[in-house]
Amino acid sequence: MSIKSTSEFSRRNVLVQMAAAPVFGAATPVLAQAPACTAAAQAAQAVLKDAKGTKLILLGTAGGPVPGRTREMTSHVMLSNGAAYVLDCGLGCTDQYARTGIPFQMLRSIFITHHHPDHNIEYGPLLIVGWVQGMPLDVRAFGPPPLKQITEDFMRAYKQTIDFWAEDFKMTPLISVDVQEVSAAGPVIQDDNVKVSATIVNHPPVKPALGYRFDFKDRSIAFSGDTTPLEAVVKLAEGADLLVHEVMYVPAVEDYVRGQVAKGRPVNFENFMAHMRADHSPVEDVGRIAQRAGVKTLVLSHLTPALEGISDDTWRSPAEKYFKGEIVVGKDLMVV
Ligand SMILES: [Zn+2]
Ligand SMILES: [Zn+2]
Repeated sequence: MSIKSTSEFSRRNVLVQMAAAPVFGAATPVLAQAPACTAAAQAAQAVLKDAKGTKLILLGTAGGPVPGRTREMTSHVMLSNGAAYVLDCGLGCTDQYARTGIPFQMLRSIFITHHHPDHNIEYGPLLIVGWVQGMPLDVRAFGPPPLKQITEDFMRAYKQTIDFWAEDFKMTPLISVDVQEVSAAGPVIQDDNVKVSATIVNHPPVKPALGYRFDFKDRSIAFSGDTTPLEAVVKLAEGADLLVHEVMYVPAVEDYVRGQVAKGRPVNFENFMAHMRADHSPVEDVGRIAQRAGVKTLVLSHLTPALEGISDDTWRSPAEKYFKGEIVVGKDLMVV
């Protein structure tokens, strides 16, 4: 055997082992992580190992498609009765999913709220890497049009990549994904674990942009998606155990934009703030919405701006003025 084929042989062995199913709660994936995420990943895995009932794990809690921050872009996974449901696929969602220790074999469905990159950019990579890691071929995807087209185009673009891998590891290639487009408020799907419904939210110029509600047997979880403060979200979240709502802390956004202007960036302060108010929800209003919806727990996520140095209290206190239930300031890999 030549040196080349020996190294090829061992490369294959390593890759086959890596392609094998991750063990739930295994320490191996965590050891490979940078120290900052190790603690959060270990904590999440410890909670999930003994978890009873449905859990929500915040995979990424930052608003906007900005790389290199300490928080990842928006993504969540809900784990219920051995099935995992991902909501939104911002950059980093596949790594973050793996860090929870939830096997890709459990991934049943993926939901997209709207077609902004901080919510959909890793949808395709999650499918392919998920497939390599054992994701079932009957995984389903739900989201606004043109999700079918996006899925087909992505599969076409990566067909050769998938075929090479399938041939190498004798896997059934991922050819297509069952996509259901959602463009109206109402029921989306019901399976043995959960009933999912959607509402239309206000996030111009993105149409439609969706909020979702998941009614599991033991727990109900509503997501605002990206939106201005909206009556439809109050209705969607009515009586829910959890409401995960996007939030914007206006004074910090203003500081950030002034800083950009001072650096000579081509940003007009008034225009930028008008855009932010036309698309997103100040945290005070999020408190009002949670109170009116009568939810038990409000989870603040999709933090804008997602800057270090804004304390949990700074995020919490404007909402606390109006909402009398529990408030959780979202952090990556937090289990709620
Ligand atoms: Zn967003
Ligand atoms: Zn958006």
